[in-house]
Amino acid sequence: MHLRDIARFCVIALTGLATAAGAGTYNPRETFAPLDFYPPVNAYRAADGTPGPAYWQNRADYTINARLDPATHSISGTVRIRYTNNSPGELDVLWLQLEQNLYKPDSRGNLSLGGRPGALSEVPGGFTGGMTLDDVRVTVGGRTVAVQPLISDTRAQLRLPAPLATGGTAVVDIRYHYIVPKEPWGGRTGWMDSPNGPIYSIAQWYPRMAVYDDLRGWDTLPYLQQEFYLEYGDFDYSVTVPASWIVAGSGELANEAEVLTPQERSRVAQARASDKTVMIRRWNEKRPATGTKTWHFTMHNSRDVAFGASPAFNWDAARMNLPGGRKGLAMSVYPAEAKAWGRSTEFLKDAVERFSAKYYPFPWPVAVNVAGPAAGMEYPALAFDPIDAPSKPLFWVTAHEIGHSWFPMTVGFNERRWAWMDEGINTFIDVYESDEFEGGVYGPKRDGEYAPGGGNPVDEILPILADPDAPPMMSRADTVPEKYRHPVTYFKAALGMVLLREQVLGPERFDPAFRRFVSAWAFKHPTPVDFFRAMDSEAGEDLSWFWRGWFYNNWQLDLAATAIKPFPDKAPFKGSLVTVQALDKMVMPVTLRVTFADGKSRDIRLPAETWIRHASTNVPVVSDSPVVKAVLDPDHKLPDKDRKNNEVAAR
Ligand SMILES: [Zn+2]
Repeated sequence: MHLRDIARFCVIALTGLATAAGAGTYNPRETFAPLDFYPPVNAYRAADGTPGPAYWQNRADYTINARLDPATHSISGTVRIRYTNNSPGELDVLWLQLEQNLYKPDSRGNLSLGGRPGALSEVPGGFTGGMTLDDVRVTVGGRTVAVQPLISDTRAQLRLPAPLATGGTAVVDIRYHYIVPKEPWGGRTGWMDSPNGPIYSIAQWYPRMAVYDDLRGWDTLPYLQQEFYLEYGDFDYSVTVPASWIVAGSGELANEAEVLTPQERSRVAQARASDKTVMIRRWNEKRPATGTKTWHFTMHNSRDVAFGASPAFNWDAARMNLPGGRKGLAMSVYPAEAKAWGRSTEFLKDAVERFSAKYYPFPWPVAVNVAGPAAGMEYPALAFDPIDAPSKPLFWVTAHEIGHSWFPMTVGFNERRWAWMDEGINTFIDVYESDEFEGGVYGPKRDGEYAPGGGNPVDEILPILADPDAPPMMSRADTVPEKYRHPVTYFKAALGMVLLREQVLGPERFDPAFRRFVSAWAFKHPTPVDFFRAMDSEAGEDLSWFWRGWFYNNWQLDLAATAIKPFPDKAPFKGSLVTVQALDKMVMPVTLRVTFADGKSRDIRLPAETWIRHASTNVPVVSDSPVVKAVLDPDHKLPDKDRKNNEVAAR
């Protein structure tokens, strides 16, 4: 009899000997109940978690010409949106997102903050009046009409003069302006004073198309400060600022010759060939002192663009080496007082190169880190990060914010509904970046996003799992109170990914399945369920119990080793039975380490199915020497709420 058959025989022969000791809340039929995913499989979304054969997505291409006026702290300009309807039906309206309307006193976002400190209403001057649409024209079928937008909070509806048929393109021309909020109330955008001039972090700065998708038609959740859900397209944008200023934007600078000095241009060329950071401009080096300059950028296949602008920026850059021999440019802009920022470009370059090699090639030519207000905020290929961060936190936040260029900027998650997807999956990849940058000098990642106490993440998550008020990840993002945003949306989601990779599936099954999910949904709009299906199908496990316990609920895990007994006399083999129990609602695969009387030990990997029929199961250990000690999770990898019951000795 093969050893494996012996084990099987023993299980069959000895099942039922397990006692029902331990008063837990575990019910296998609840933990392992079928999990019905919503929405069900259809022509748009396939059973294996990839886009279905009839998957479609609309497209928005933008041309923007804007002026930043520091005297009035205002942005004014025009945007032309070419919006293509690829849906199977006609559209008779379009919806725009106008996030600047958050800064109106009666905005839904302002009221949703509930008067907590930091609410806009408590910061003097925290209101701007929002974005004004001065003129809106829509062209459909060759006919252009002026449209009076129907404004509702941070959204605007444009009624079309004629239906937009499948495959048709509407052109929307808008003239607009708004006042840029000052820090800190701007949140994800704003301006601040610095010793050598103002610094602007400019985002949500033009009317953007809401997403129309196969899930709910127009997805018009208002902006309550919970990030974004956007269509993909090409961007061509120009920003006019005082001539002495530097502008660092998403995408690629298209008119170097017009806006850079000869010295700056030659240093940019030097940086393109250098793995070491090259200083392109110190803030006090000479630039044209009067008039304005218009910085012109292009970006392909993006869901958004943002930029930083200031007269106070140092600017440095280095080459990025991307898969397939492609080269890119990592660059940072920061004021002189940003002490640790001399290494920012190194951090950026390392993160982009590693994430490109591991998950998906960075799709754009330039990655930018911008110091200033709105710090700790991400846009495609661009991060706004804090001026005063010391090296280690600056490394962490830089890796995180540029990591968002994968999630959700490349894999186009709906952040407004499912914030855990971009924050959790991004934080997960940051955990490994922290372990690997320069051999782990800044590892392990322990910051506000992941095990903030600095200890073992599986212990630090326990109070969250035990907290009856903590929302589960599959809550609407807007409902998560600030107190739980980092612990649940970032930390718990990322730890779930780490557990899935390292404990449930193993890297050899997780990594290819995850990469397949990423490439299948690059520049598309996956849901949580698409992710769950993709991992189940490609990795080859029905993980309903894991999704239910960790993502749909905050279930707790309490595994216990409770008894060691010899095989019964009638058994044909020598060995011991170790009783293991699930005492709470969650289960996990776990290592059982048994020590024999002869001093040797053995690790036995128990799958989640160990508890699929019974809360208490006997694990047969065939050996000549009897088991004298058994420990569950000896290497402390699982969020087990009570570790005191993990060890048992033979009586
Ligand atoms: Zn983030």
